[in-house]
Amino acid sequence: MNVFKFGGASLKDAASIKNMAQILKDYGGESGCIVVVSAMGKTTNALEQLLNAAKSAKEEDVAFCFQQLVDFHQKLVEDLFEHDSPLIANQIQLYLDHLMVSLRAGQSEMEADQWYDKVVSFGEVISSKITYEYLIRQSIPVRLIEAKNYIRTDSTWRDAKVDFELTASLVKNDIPFWLEKGIVLTQGFLGGTVDGHTTTLGREGSDYSAAIFASVLDAEAVTVWKDVPGVLNADPKRFNEVRLFDELSYEEAAEMTFYGATVIHPKTIKPLANKSIPLIVRSFIDPSSAGTRISTLGKVPDIPAFIIKDQQVLVSFSRKDLSFVGEGGIGQILTTLDTLHFKINLMQRSALSFSVVIDHRDEKLNLLEQHLAKQFNISHRLNLHLLTIKRVHSALLTEMKAGKKIIIEQIHGSTAQLLFE
Ligand code: ASP
Ligand code: MG
Repeated sequence: MNVFKFGGASLKDAASIKNMAQILKDYGGESGCIVVVSAMGKTTNALEQLLNAAKSAKEEDVAFCFQQLVDFHQKLVEDLFEHDSPLIANQIQLYLDHLMVSLRAGQSEMEADQWYDKVVSFGEVISSKITYEYLIRQSIPVRLIEAKNYIRTDSTWRDAKVDFELTASLVKNDIPFWLEKGIVLTQGFLGGTVDGHTTTLGREGSDYSAAIFASVLDAEAVTVWKDVPGVLNADPKRFNEVRLFDELSYEEAAEMTFYGATVIHPKTIKPLANKSIPLIVRSFIDPSSAGTRISTLGKVPDIPAFIIKDQQVLVSFSRKDLSFVGEGGIGQILTTLDTLHFKINLMQRSALSFSVVIDHRDEKLNLLEQHLAKQFNISHRLNLHLLTIKRVHSALLTEMKAGKKIIIEQIHGSTAQLLFE
């Protein structure tokens, strides 16, 4: 049995959904396949914008964002379903109307993050419904299931923690039976609490969903179909020459995600590595090419990897009386960062200060500074970039530093990190 995941870019218009159906026919295989879909195109971002508009009570913006969501999905339906399109369009409109009801009701009824999950989850729900309707019209045997009824989580809204034991028993109860009959289609990114509330697993979490299903059912492999040929050693939008990794070890892939590679969701690797289930990253534009295979057998690559994170902020803490920032002080800073769910991308200690580099999130940065303002003088520098180079050598490092205003340079083993303006 295989698990296939299709992300937003591989479901962004009618042509991509047709392509997906062809991929399922060609590679869905005989041994059963779970297909995990995320929201179509940039729908999750659009839903976040809709929420923000509602939060700030900007009625015109709410109407505008909602209309964009309606237009996008209705156009896609029109392009995809010839004579059945009015029928499907009506069904999708019901979901969109329901989305609006949830948007209105949620604001007063629940806390902000739960409201987020309730609203943003419509992206995946609508996506799976459209995909389902298309696949059955292609005579592909498929059953649509609600991920929230199988991926059991706690109620950490927007970053729900999966209860693997409960999830395993729910999944094993039903899904093997359906897999004998055809494809099982479900939503990525979504889970549900015991009392039936929808949760989300963190942005870009659909890869993780695929890994959860695979791990619970001991799948042969997970294939993530993407708009890139596989895992590349650098972002082709930023680097002229990029190369494809044919294979990677789980460790190497996990390290790359740690440093900010966005090709796979960081949480995806662990459940698969624990069960030695290969993760294949493959092109949906050129499905016959092999892509990248991440597995126990993956060799350590012999070419460097470059990972850039933008929107970095350097936050520096020093004591008001010029005393050193001791271990206790650092402990306090780290605990506060952890409480606010910041991940430290780089840190540095000097005689009179302790600094961290984190992803810039406006509201949270304010909170961080408020929390620690009593004990520390705090300063920050915005709009920085962090470049991590794995398997660096000195000539390469010199080349990468040229023309950049470097603020921090750190080298650990064969990995270099450069923070620059
Ligand atoms: N649709 C969600 C997002 O854009 C989850 C995913 O695509 O993996 O974050
Ligand atoms: Mg997405």
